[in-house]
Amino acid sequence: MKTAQQYKDSLRERNVRVYIKGELQDPKTLIDHPFVKGHVASAAMTYALANSKDYEGLCTATSHLTGHKINRFTHIHQSVDDLLIKIKMLRMISQKTGTCYQRCVGFDALNATYSVTYEIDQKYGTDYHGRFKKFLTYVQDNDLMLAGAMTDVKGDRSLRPGQQKDPDLFVHVVEKRDDGVVIRGCKAHMTGMVNSHEMLIMPTMGMKPGEEEYAICCALPTDAPGVTHIFGRQTNDDRKCGGDIDQGNAQFGIVGGECLTVLDNVFVPWERVFMCGEIELSGMLVDRFACYHRSNYGACKGGVSDVVIGAAALMADYSGYGKASHIKDKLNEMIHMNETIYACSLACSCQGTCTAAGSYYVDPLLANVCKHNVTKIIYDIDRLAQDIAGGIIATMPSEEDLRNPEIGGYVEKYLRGVESIPTEDRMRVARLVENMTGGTALAESMHGAGSPQAQKVMYAKLSGLEEKKKFAARIAGIRGSEE
Ligand SMILES: Cc1cc2nc3c(=O)[nH]c(=O)nc-3n(C[C@H](O)[C@H](O)[C@H](O)COP(=O)(O)OP(=O)(O)OC[C@H]3O[C@@H](n4cnc5c(N)ncnc54)[C@H](O)[C@@H]3O)c2cc1C
Repeated sequence: MKTAQQYKDSLRERNVRVYIKGELQDPKTLIDHPFVKGHVASAAMTYALANSKDYEGLCTATSHLTGHKINRFTHIHQSVDDLLIKIKMLRMISQKTGTCYQRCVGFDALNATYSVTYEIDQKYGTDYHGRFKKFLTYVQDNDLMLAGAMTDVKGDRSLRPGQQKDPDLFVHVVEKRDDGVVIRGCKAHMTGMVNSHEMLIMPTMGMKPGEEEYAICCALPTDAPGVTHIFGRQTNDDRKCGGDIDQGNAQFGIVGGECLTVLDNVFVPWERVFMCGEIELSGMLVDRFACYHRSNYGACKGGVSDVVIGAAALMADYSGYGKASHIKDKLNEMIHMNETIYACSLACSCQGTCTAAGSYYVDPLLANVCKHNVTKIIYDIDRLAQDIAGGIIATMPSEEDLRNPEIGGYVEKYLRGVESIPTEDRMRVARLVENMTGGTALAESMHGAGSPQAQKVMYAKLSGLEEKKKFAARIAGIRGSEE
């Protein structure tokens, strides 16, 4: 396994092409850029903890392919226990970073591709699963970080991929050669991509006859020729270029450092292609990835919300109203909601089942319920955090004002809460609440792993509404409905 330092060093060795605010970055120093370094530190935590004796078994696993000890983020779930351990690990890491550490997307993509390649081979006699296992062994042995690249830019949402005026709005195969394929298009919202070694590309939705060129799953180094990453802006990101207080979470940043990844005629050798035109199973790959990913959200957002709840409680203590009954009541409400989403993550993992490939898969209906709850509950938790923290989170002067020799004394004097707490500490926690409950952080809970409607579509598929009608008809005594 790599150490956190080896992970960071390995990122400098890539010849990755990244633009930030219109400027091409030097690949050697990209990870020191103020917009990027927090996300790198957060991802590095997944390496650091796996190397700590305290987290042995939680952040490590034994490879079912090689028997080697590996970082759990490269593991294929071998049991319900593995699914549960993942959930516990995600919550624990979020409690330490207070933000996304980006590595679960690639983890979920590996698990989805593992089981689906097996099923494609069963149906078509292809050899994708064998290829994929070789790639997986390489990932495990080198402890690589992968971006999970599913979401296409999609252009006009009312049109299918083949109906778009520009065929590149969904990633597709533009040429098949003896030695591999050439792909073109663009993936959007790519979490952790600029600080990953590899990306695992998957179709964005189930494809239909005539859309075979869009049913592509393959792996690419993030610095492959023809790949350009355009880093996304975040709420308040210019604050990263100054001091640390105003950033809220200066050490680890907010969300996952997402980017737009352009694939401009990129060559992929056959040994890295894991689906190419098998439209019948493209929907299965999308569903498997989505459900693994949706199962995470009560765990990672649960850990993040542990920090939000703690920050709100600290603000109350620092401001002198920590013992007020309505504050205690609101904190309890936040705890109730947070444990509810965590329970959903545990539930869909407890109900996991074995796939044809022998790996374990979460209960898909409960995984969707989990993520759907997160699209609402996190907003409610954050609303209460903002209520408790007070208007100061929206109007507070800057760190520069606090440090200014002329006016710093005023800030120090007039922003103090209870006498025993330094003003700077109160300002730090206020900024943490502001940053964790605002813009970019909240949007991830809504759209990450799919917008709410994507979960509702799954209820229609998975919930057995017709059977529920029969239950009701029988109990109502409708003639002909008897068992
Ligand atoms: C912080 C963050 C991190 C992310 N990380 C990753 C990642 O690492 N990897 C990855 O693959 N993806 C990632 N995503 C992408 C995420 O899965 C998508 O945001 C999500 O699937 C929604 O797609 P979209 O953003 O293109 O929204 P849109 O498709 O534009 O949807 C916007 C709204 O329109 C509705 N809508 C869309 N199409 C239709 C239609 N045809 N008919 C009716 N209504 C429609 C949706 O339900 C939604 O309400 C991330 C997203 C965020 C916000």
